[in-house]
Amino acid sequence: MSAPAGEAPDFLRDLLEARSPSGYEQEAQAVVDRYLGPVAERVDRDALGNRMAVLGEGKDPTLLLAGHMDELGFVLSHIDDKGFLFFETIGGHDRIMIPGRRVRILTDRGPVSGVTGKRAVHLMSAEERKKIPEVHEMWIDIGATSGEEASKLVAVGDPVVYAHGLEPLRGERFIARGFDNKSGCYVVNEVLRRLARDHADALRAKVVAVSTSQEEIGTRGAYPSTFAVDPQFGIAVDVGHATDHPDCDPRKHGGKHVLGGGPLLSRGPNINPVVFARLQQLAEDHQIPYQLKAENAPTPTDARAVQMSRAGVATGLLSIPLRYMHTPGEVVHLGDVEATVELIRLFALSLEPGERGDW
Ligand SMILES: [Zn+2]
Repeated sequence: MSAPAGEAPDFLRDLLEARSPSGYEQEAQAVVDRYLGPVAERVDRDALGNRMAVLGEGKDPTLLLAGHMDELGFVLSHIDDKGFLFFETIGGHDRIMIPGRRVRILTDRGPVSGVTGKRAVHLMSAEERKKIPEVHEMWIDIGATSGEEASKLVAVGDPVVYAHGLEPLRGERFIARGFDNKSGCYVVNEVLRRLARDHADALRAKVVAVSTSQEEIGTRGAYPSTFAVDPQFGIAVDVGHATDHPDCDPRKHGGKHVLGGGPLLSRGPNINPVVFARLQQLAEDHQIPYQLKAENAPTPTDARAVQMSRAGVATGLLSIPLRYMHTPGEVVHLGDVEATVELIRLFALSLEPGERGDW
């Protein structure tokens, strides 16, 4: 089922190509609809733009799998008289990454190409060169020569994404914009696809794969979708920091986590101990690589929202190790993605009728 070495699965590739800044997830929704529609019992949608693919309706317990489909981006806030476009950021950007990038503005009439501009290094003082530009000191240049011309092409409120696609590096290591969290969104939906294909009868739980919206601006899709699904178990899949590159210190940056070492298996207050122990046992029994990760508080992932829904949900968190998070050049090892799919598939099949995660 996994793609040959050096190739990304089509579904993951299509999710990565979909442009889906938080609140503007339409292209990712369309990919999920296309791949899950034919195999799920149904794919529900809601007012927040979530997608909820259902398998095993009527079975108990319900397992919710959450992988957010939104990504970082920008939104146009001002068009000046000369036709330059100013913007606000969507999500947690490192401003040093913004200038000099090719971008696409997603308009009602299709994408418009542009570049993020700033004053050239030659035109900066020695002091200015040491500083990171403020957001308002950068702009998007679409080649327009007047505000009037630009306003015919784009509108205030149009979203913007970097025009960086998927590229192989070496072996299973790939670079892409938006592995955070198209890789996790792929995992939860791919688990459901494999369960539907191979295990629909053996499965004793209802499984709902939720492609959540708006995670990057406060896990906003996970709250209403978890309320609607009303699960007893939940697993969130996101990306986590690989700390195996220069300038990382395991003492300061959450431990030693490597690309290709398997998903990060979190443990701590945001994590239900029954779910944690089951995931660890399954990984050990089936020789699936994993890396322990300590969490001292609610995590900044959908796991925080899922766990606190209604009367509480027994929640786990698996994170795909990733280098250079929230940049246009995120690096992931596809073996870690595949290991995460398999571990969650086994978890779903391990659930007994009526089982609960109370402790
Ligand atoms: Zn993120």
